Amino acid sequence: AEDQLRQSQKMEAVGHLTGGVAHDFNNLLQVVLGNLEILKRHLPSDALRLRRATENAMTGANRAAVLTQRLLAFSRRQPLAPQALDLNRLLSGMSDLLSRTLGETIQIETVLAGGLWRVEVDPNQLENAILNLAVNARDAMPNGGKLTIETANSHLDGAYIAANSDAIAGQYVVICVTDTGSGMAPETLERVFEPFFTTKEVGKGTGLGLSMVYGFVKQSGGYVKLYSETNEGTTVKIYLPRLLGDVAPELTPSIEDITGEA
Ligand code: ADP
Repeated sequence: AEDQLRQSQKMEAVGHLTGGVAHDFNNLLQVVLGNLEILKRHLPSDALRLRRATENAMTGANRAAVLTQRLLAFSRRQPLAPQALDLNRLLSGMSDLLSRTLGETIQIETVLAGGLWRVEVDPNQLENAILNLAVNARDAMPNGGKLTIETANSHLDGAYIAANSDAIAGQYVVICVTDTGSGMAPETLERVFEPFFTTKEVGKGTGLGLSMVYGFVKQSGGYVKLYSETNEGTTVKIYLPRLLGDVAPELTPSIEDITGEA
């Protein structure tokens, strides 16, 4: 629990620092993009080289903007548009995108709980987060494997909270994303939420995927838990608080009770 506390204090400090820079940087990029847009609009249609150069500059600036948005997500300074959501429906809607992302060698299994509580989160950001997890899973399974996505209702009780200082007791909906990939060594596992931490080669990873997931989920009032075993695989669990004042679903919910696991 003490480790967890130290870790979350460190994240807090890094997030504070990163957020300020990312925010200003993003504003400057928007100025660049806005002006490139004007430039492009006023270029004669036969000025092909100039058009191509302008478009290349816009592509670069857009990529940089995506990076700053992940940093903003990590530092919890991202404007969110939360909505009451059925996560099962959101995940079903992503199935084409997910199978395209994972390719033919990775099998996808989806286990959606009946009677799932609703949550209130930003659907675009949540899709982004899940896509990030899928990309990581794909990268961890270069020779194929299996990705499982599960949903469940979950009560977090006092004992669990005692072991996880940054969690708040209550009702959550949990999304578990499990792969049968390379897994992570303990040294890696300790650092994955840090922005820019990556074990991937230059140009392949930015080290911002899990940072974004972490920040977004925290900003949404939830939290992320990781379980990983080298050569076995990895499970990422995203806990999102149940929508306040939600009406009870008709079906009996399948409840994943958590009691004091460390
Ligand atoms: P990136 O994917 O750009 O490296 P992330 O923040 O998403 O950035 O991940 C950081 C690191 O965590 C990865 O470089 C990898 O070492 C490790 N990692 C993340 N997800 C998984 C996974 N599902 N299996 C194995 N390792 C993972």
